[in-house]
This record gives sequence, C-alpha cells and structure tokens, in this order.
Amino acid sequence: MSGIYIHIPFCRQICRYCDFHHSASLARKSEMLEAIGRELGERRNEIAPGSVRTLYFGGGTPSVCSPEEIGSLVRSVRESWEADTFDEVTLEANPDDLTPEYLCGLRAAGIDRLSIGIQSFHDAHLIRMNRRHTAAAAVEAVKNARQAGFENVTIDLIYGLPWMTPQEWQYNLDCAVALGVQHISAYHLTIEPRTAFGRQGMRPVEESVSELHFRMLRETLTGAGFEHYEVSNFALPGFRARHNSSYWRGDPYLGAGPSAHSYDGHLCRSWNVASNRLYLEKAPRETERLTQTDLLNEYLMTHLRTAEGISTDYLTEHFGAAEAVRITGRCGDFIATGDMRLTSEGFAVRPERFLISDFLISELFA
Ligand code: SF4
Repeated sequence: MSGIYIHIPFCRQICRYCDFHHSASLARKSEMLEAIGRELGERRNEIAPGSVRTLYFGGGTPSVCSPEEIGSLVRSVRESWEADTFDEVTLEANPDDLTPEYLCGLRAAGIDRLSIGIQSFHDAHLIRMNRRHTAAAAVEAVKNARQAGFENVTIDLIYGLPWMTPQEWQYNLDCAVALGVQHISAYHLTIEPRTAFGRQGMRPVEESVSELHFRMLRETLTGAGFEHYEVSNFALPGFRARHNSSYWRGDPYLGAGPSAHSYDGHLCRSWNVASNRLYLEKAPRETERLTQTDLLNEYLMTHLRTAEGISTDYLTEHFGAAEAVRITGRCGDFIATGDMRLTSEGFAVRPERFLISDFLISELFA
C-alpha cells in the first residue's frame, strides 16, 4: 500500500505560529499546479501501479485551489498509478473557503475527507493567531460539509496557547465535540524561531499548563467516544486517518510539490526544495540513504507515537537480538514508572503519557 501527498504551497494569510512551507502570493499558482502535475507523471515509476490507496492534499492551504484544479491533480494521480479507487482522499481546508458550492465541487473532484483548520472557537484567539476565519465561520463550514455529503471530517485544534485559560480550552473542546465530526487532531503550540510568535519572543507555557490542557483534551474526547490512537489524533471507531496511519506504519509514500517528502518504504528518503521559485526552476530533489541506526530510530519514533506501539519480534528480526534486549529492557523501566504498557506484541506508551512520548522515544534511540 502506498500514499501520495501533494503540497499546495500557498496561503491567503500567514498564521503567526506556522512553520510550514507556504507563500502568501498566489501569483504563480497555475504554473505551480502544472509543475506538480508534471512531477506526478515524471515520478510514476517510483510507486507500483495499482498500489496507491490514499491521496492527501496538504499545505499551505489546498482550498485556495478551485475544485477544477484539485480535480485535475486527482486525475493525474489516477492516470499515473492506474488508481481507479482510493481508500481515502483528504483535502486540508480553511473554514472560510468551504461554501456549499465549493464543497459540491470538491465532492465531484473526488475528495471524500476534509481536514478543516479551526484551531479555536474564540474569535479573540483567532485574531491573535492571524487566522482568516471567525468561530462562527468554522461552525458553518462543518455544517456545510455535512450538507454537501461529507461523512468523514477532521478538525484541527491548538492547545498550550500562553493566553488561553482552562475554561477557554474546555469551551473549545466542548464545541469540537458538539460539531459531530469523526476525527479531531489537537496540537500543542510549538514556538519556532522563524515564525511571527518566535520573532516576538513568545515563551512556551509552563509544563503544568501543558499537562492540564492535555488531560482535559483526553478526558473530554475519550469521554465522547473518541479513541486516542496517536499522540495528536483522536478518532471515532472506524475513522482513523488512513493516509497518516500509513506514515506511522512505515509504508511508502510519494510527496509532490515544494518541500514535500517521499519514502520508498526501504532505505531511501527524499525531499523537494522548500522554495516555490527553486521548485519551478526544477531544483533536484535531495535524497538520503538510511542506515540501520536511522531505520531503528525511525521505527521507534513512528510506532511509539501510536497506541499500538512496537513489536518485540519485529525488533529482533530487523535489528538483532542484542538491540531488542536493550530496548525492551529500557521499556521495562518505563513500565515500572507508569509511562509504558505491555501489549500483545511488545510495548506502547500509555496514551495518558503521550505528552512526554518524545522524551521516552529519545531514551530508546540507538
Ligand atoms: S497554519 Fe495553514 S493556513 Fe496558516 S499559514 Fe500555516 S499552512 Fe497557511
């Protein structure tokens, strides 16, 4: 099974926390979409025909594209990999783009899952983050999506905002549950130096605040029937994100567009240049051949982010008995501290402790 990721590197407005590759000028959009379509065709031999099961439009803001532009890229993927059907075709969207007409167009273009960047239901927060939409527009977007026939909708929320009170966070969580969406991704704010928040010198919240927000997140969403299946992701039964789950399983994927990453499922990672201009000038992709150490660390990093965790048999088979003993021994220590649990196949971080999973994983690295 393989997935295709398409990076649309344009946004109408730049959010103050965002570190993704994007440009606020849409001047070269048509040229860019043509180039991405060309890249998909040129790289068709990298993924076996018939194996592409998921397609994901991320960015940037893919909803700056018309349904016709999206439809044309979906067709390029279908043609390049003989993909008659997909298990999931997701498009990331900003709420204020999701009018009833636009949503009908997206359905006709082949999109069956929407990822809507809501972030907060407080207008004052949205203004501070320089989001384009209002809280009312976010609620309206989800309603429009349901009316247009979308039965698989995920929304994004942000917590760990320095000015957010616990009451405001609880309100966001209650609003998210009340929307009746099938999936919720919630990310702790990270302050990257080259973002507006980073340049302003914003400081992260205290650890105790992160822990409180995280506990409220888990209690509210699991209480509403969502499964906490990955550090930042919650799904109703049957609605886990299939495309992203394939990253965490280590399946091959091909990323097209500026800054997009690809993985052949074995030893090779590659990535496109993170510059619209250089991408259009056909700057070559960079590649990296993974060592055994890289592969082991990658396995730990991806699998310990999920509720399933790591398999002792897999570790022994792919990395040798000595490494398996070292890692499982350390996992045993984390079981004693209450951070990990035993599974039928090996070990997993307890979802209650997902907030510190990066630390636990780094302790196991080769
Ligand atoms: S968060 Fe999304 S919409 Fe905002 S700047 Fe980043 S990519 Fe663009």
